[in-house]
Amino acid sequence: MVRGDRLREEVNTLEEELRRLKDLEAATEERLRRYQNLRRIANAFNLTLTPEDLLESVIQGTAELVSEVDLVLLYLVDPEALNLQLRKAWRRTGSAPVKTKHGDIFDQWVLRQGQPLLVEDVRRDFRFDQMALERPDHPMGALLAVPLLSKDRCLGILRLESERLSGLGADELRLVRIIADLASLGIENSRLYSRMAELAMTDDLTGLGVRRFFLQQMEQWIAACRTDTRGCVLLIDIDRFKDYNDQFGHSAGDKLLKQIGGILLSVRRPGEVAARLGGEEFACLLQGMGKAEAIRRAEEIRFRVETCPVELRRTTTRITVSIGLALFPDEGRTPEQLLQIADRRLYQAKAQGRNRVWAGGTEAG
Ligand code: GH3
Ligand code: MG
Ligand code: MG
Repeated sequence: MVRGDRLREEVNTLEEELRRLKDLEAATEERLRRYQNLRRIANAFNLTLTPEDLLESVIQGTAELVSEVDLVLLYLVDPEALNLQLRKAWRRTGSAPVKTKHGDIFDQWVLRQGQPLLVEDVRRDFRFDQMALERPDHPMGALLAVPLLSKDRCLGILRLESERLSGLGADELRLVRIIADLASLGIENSRLYSRMAELAMTDDLTGLGVRRFFLQQMEQWIAACRTDTRGCVLLIDIDRFKDYNDQFGHSAGDKLLKQIGGILLSVRRPGEVAARLGGEEFACLLQGMGKAEAIRRAEEIRFRVETCPVELRRTTTRITVSIGLALFPDEGRTPEQLLQIADRRLYQAKAQGRNRVWAGGTEAG
C-alpha cells in the first residue's frame, strides 16, 4: 500500500515534469520561430533600399511576428511640419479604418519622451477615455508604441493595437523594440542611398542634372508618351567660352557656368528638364511643346543669357549662347537621335554667326 502510494507519487512527479518540459519545448519553438522570422525580416530590411518598400516590409513583418496584433501603424516625423504622418497601416481583415493620421496622445507622448509605451489593459488605464473605448468602431484591448530612434533623433513611431485585453505584453514589447531598431537602421540607410543617388545625378557646379540624369528623364518621358505627344530638345552651348577662360581664368569660367546654370533653373517651367551635359554644354527637355512654342522658349533663354551682365573684378562682360533644337517625334524618337540632331543644329547655329537659335529649315534668332 505504502509502495503503491510512493509509485503513484513518482508517476505524478514524472507527469508534472513531462508537462513542464513540453511547455518549455513549445516556448522554445515559439522563440525559435520568432528569431527565424526576425532574421528573415532583418535581411529584407537590408535588401530593400527604396523607402516605400522598406516601410511596407516593416509593417508586414511586424504583423507576421506579433500574433495577437490587429492593427499596425507606422508614422514618420515630417521634417518640415515636425509632426507625425501616417505612412503605412496594416489591419487584420474586418477591423475599422484608421482615423488618426497624425497619431493620438499616446503617440505624441512617445514622440516627446523618445520612450516606448505599453498599455496591456486599456480599461484599467486612467489615461483612456472610457466612452471612446466603448465605441464599437474602435475596439482596443492593449496598445504598444515604440519610437524609431536614430542617434538622438526620433524618426517615427511603430504603433500596435490588439483588440484582446493583454494581447500585447512585455514579450511583444521586447520584440517590437528589436523590429523598431532594425527599421530605424533601414530607414536611415534608404535615406542615405536616395541622397547618394540624387547627388550622383546632380552637377556640383551648377546644381543641374548631369548627362545621365538627362538621358534617364528623356527615356522615361518617351516611354510614357502617347501617340499625339509633342516635345523638343534644346542643346545650348556657350559661345567662345575658351576665349573667356583664357582671358579671365578657369575659376572665372566656372563662375560663368554657374551663372548660366542659374538662368536655366530660374526660367525652368513645370514639365521642363534642364541639365549640364558636360563642359560648357547644357540641354533642356521641353515636354508637350510644338516647334513654334519651342523656338520662342529657346529664344527666351538665349535672350536672358545675352542680357544678363557677367560681373568680374569690377568689369562687366556679356556672354552669349547658341542653341540647336530637335523635335520629338517628327525628327527623332530616341534620346540619341534627338541629341544628334540638336547637336547638328547647334553646329549650324555656330556657323551662322553664334548667339542664335537654329531649328532647321528657317533661321529663328
Ligand atoms: P564655340 O563658340 O565654338 O563653342 O567656342 P568655345 O570656345 O566655347 O568652344 P570650345 O569647345 O573650343 O571650348 C570649350 C572650352 O570650355 C574649353 C574648355 O577649356 C572649357 N571648359 C570645359 N569645361 C569647363 C569647366 O568645367 N570649367 C571651365 N572653366 N572651363 C571649361
Ligand atoms: Mg562653346
Ligand atoms: Mg562646346
